[in-house]
Amino acid sequence: MADDIDLAQDRIDAEMQARLRVLPTFDIASLIECQECGEEIPSKRRAIGGVKRCFDCQNNFEGRR
Ligand SMILES: [Zn+2]
Repeated sequence: MADDIDLAQDRIDAEMQARLRVLPTFDIASLIECQECGEEIPSKRRAIGGVKRCFDCQNNFEGRR
């Protein structure tokens, strides 16, 4: 199970890197802290722009749809 999460994280990181190359600037600033749980969002994740949730809460949020 942990391996699956690590693999998913690696894929997301790769996608983020690809997106950053295509879209170098974002108008929407990321939140410093997750709006769901208040945990600090890692700077690597915030760098995407428009990030409002930590990785776990984003997963939960997307899983609920
Ligand atoms: Zn969170």
